Amino acid sequence: MSDRTAGLTTAAEQAHRFLTGLDDRPVGARADAAAVRGLLDGPLPEHGEDPDRVITALVDGAEPGLVAGAGPRHFGFVIGGVLPAALAADWLVSAWDQCAAFHSLSPAAAAIEEITAAWILDLLGLPDTASVGFVTGGQGANTTCLAAARHAALAKVGWNVERDGLIGAPPLRVVCGEQAHVTIDTALRLLGLGDSTSVRVPADDQGRMDPQALQRILASSSEPTIVCAQAGNVSTGAFDDFGPIADACDEHGAWLHIDGAFGLWAAAAPGTRHLTRGVERADSWAVDAHKWLNVPYDAAMAIVADSEAHLAAMSLAGPYLVTDPVHRDSTNYVPESSRRSRAVPVYAALRSLGRSGLAELIERNCAQARRMARRLQDIPGAKIRNDVVLNQVLLRLPGGDDANRAAVAAVQRDGTCWLGGTTWRGEYVVRLSFSNWSTTDDDIDRSAEAIAVAARSVAAAG
Ligand SMILES: *Cc1c(COP(=O)(O)O)cnc(C)c1O
Repeated sequence: MSDRTAGLTTAAEQAHRFLTGLDDRPVGARADAAAVRGLLDGPLPEHGEDPDRVITALVDGAEPGLVAGAGPRHFGFVIGGVLPAALAADWLVSAWDQCAAFHSLSPAAAAIEEITAAWILDLLGLPDTASVGFVTGGQGANTTCLAAARHAALAKVGWNVERDGLIGAPPLRVVCGEQAHVTIDTALRLLGLGDSTSVRVPADDQGRMDPQALQRILASSSEPTIVCAQAGNVSTGAFDDFGPIADACDEHGAWLHIDGAFGLWAAAAPGTRHLTRGVERADSWAVDAHKWLNVPYDAAMAIVADSEAHLAAMSLAGPYLVTDPVHRDSTNYVPESSRRSRAVPVYAALRSLGRSGLAELIERNCAQARRMARRLQDIPGAKIRNDVVLNQVLLRLPGGDDANRAAVAAVQRDGTCWLGGTTWRGEYVVRLSFSNWSTTDDDIDRSAEAIAVAARSVAAAG
């Protein structure tokens, strides 16, 4: 009989090497995809290779193209790290190889998903009757939630969108903040709602939706309406003001969806909870586990207050499959049928942190954002462009957009840390995000110094 565990020891050793080296390796990749292809490409082998040799070759080839995203000084985009318990549990997900679609295929996966869902609702202060689908990311979560919203909004005017589709359907209005994340647009495209037909609510200088403008927009028409608000702007970290937004949605019968991919975790920490005030009044929420919860890619949750709407939008039940009348079949809350048990590493992350550990993680990263902002302000001519209310920092260095771009490139080349840039209110700015459990204050200070050096070299080059 073949050895079922071939390759595992090699993989564990290589993973160990990679993880223990994360603090010291250059944060950015040292090679591009073409270089990695040069190492790994070749004709498809005619005959199979030994698993150990496959793993060793993979590691050798991938190595120069790996990014230390899980390391402590990757401040680009919003990239979480990997908690040890979550990583170990993720390995078990693959070893167990459970099909997490149906209770009958894995009572263990079903139970872990139910427990994890309840813990998340508790931590985020959301209604304990809400339903939770474990999906791949914020994109999947926004899409799933907006599918439930589409169902409920059209059901109100007597239209069954799952059965009859959108051709000939009554008009449906989508209202988004001007600063809605791009994945909201993708979700609207996928759902047949279009990304250019939605009404955009003006935002303030932090990217927060103007609640009065929303109120006026909602009052201007009685069409069924979905409103997309945001907990944690991907540039500034700002939160929409959910109280007046929820009031307006209540008054006009609109579905309120909140994209809280990373920001919703602020609800789990006493020091940041105030930012999410009123969030529990929404109808649906998208939140990632692979960003701030530090679960390995990929994991996120689509949460819907009206579980009937959630089921109506996502249920697999049809002529071929009968939903289990007794047990919860998790496929009925997500777009996928067969899928891995994404709740398992989330369960492990939450259990290894505990309520207090999660709160500390959130508050520590926010304190690190403030620390970095203070350090960066010492660079001559530098300005912080956002109110650092959460874990995001926008830095504008002296000189024009080109000088800021050059500084970002210089920091990336240096390799001490990694960050990117974005366009904010018409100018190119450096964007930093703090969402890794292993980042220390020393990492912040070392990285601030590297950024200062890059800024000096760009200034000197004129
Ligand atoms: C990251 C992010 C998303 C998309 O999440 P993915 O996990 O990348 O699919 C959506 N909304 C916001 C606010 C985000 O920060």
